[in-house]
Amino acid sequence: MKCFVKSSFWTGWLLCLLGLINHSCFLRPVEPSEGPIKTLIIDAGHGGKDPGAVGRRHYEKHLALKVALKLKAIMQEQLPGIKVELTRETDHFVPLYRRARMAQDRAGDFFVSIHLNASENHETFGTETYVMGFNKGQEDDKTIVAENEAILFEDDHQELYGGFDPRSPEGHIYFKLLKDAFREESTFLAEQLQGEYREYGGRIDRGVKQGPFVVLYLSGMPAILTEVGFISNAEEEKFLASEAGQQYLATSIYRSIKTYNQSFKRKSDFGNR
Ligand SMILES: [Zn+2]
Repeated sequence: MKCFVKSSFWTGWLLCLLGLINHSCFLRPVEPSEGPIKTLIIDAGHGGKDPGAVGRRHYEKHLALKVALKLKAIMQEQLPGIKVELTRETDHFVPLYRRARMAQDRAGDFFVSIHLNASENHETFGTETYVMGFNKGQEDDKTIVAENEAILFEDDHQELYGGFDPRSPEGHIYFKLLKDAFREESTFLAEQLQGEYREYGGRIDRGVKQGPFVVLYLSGMPAILTEVGFISNAEEEKFLASEAGQQYLATSIYRSIKTYNQSFKRKSDFGNR
């Protein structure tokens, strides 16, 4: 009897404690973000049979995923009101059209594609961020061609992309007619991000550029493609492969998203989006 009383007291106390925890932690709803980004799509470039650019010791696909996963963790901790969705969380191949479809199906408000750059000149280094666009004379821009070449790993790319050949200079003329409806939002975030890389991450800022990237066009929402550094530069490859380097880059992206959401809040309040 004594034992029963004791156990019921402790059981009651435990239930009460659990109730308190439940009430204060588990059941407390997270306030959704007040800014225009309610759902962020993080896209780690390449994956599986598509390694992306190859450095001395690392593949682009692995390092891009590490930065993407770190960004997800920071976002969930710092901005829990924003839902975060990744187009891939493991090393597997995802066609570009499917990445865009996933972004739309998950009602994304912004698409951030994370890549690593490469150059034949191994001295080249720094960060650059692209928004969708087309400049005359960009037909053989190596970064654009390399990122769009991901579609060549897709068995049915001829059919899916209307015969678009990323290696053909004429192929890019196709994009000339396409207008980016989200130029203002995309450019704003891209500029914030380059500023963060420079000021917070201590990286070389190669600027905001525009280019006819298939994945940006297909996403159908404000979108950027950020090249977080050159894997072809031995020094930069070391930074990109380090935990600290990836954390700096992911934090730079998070900081730019935070600023974007605060700056565009008023616009979204008036329903201008
Ligand atoms: Zn890439």
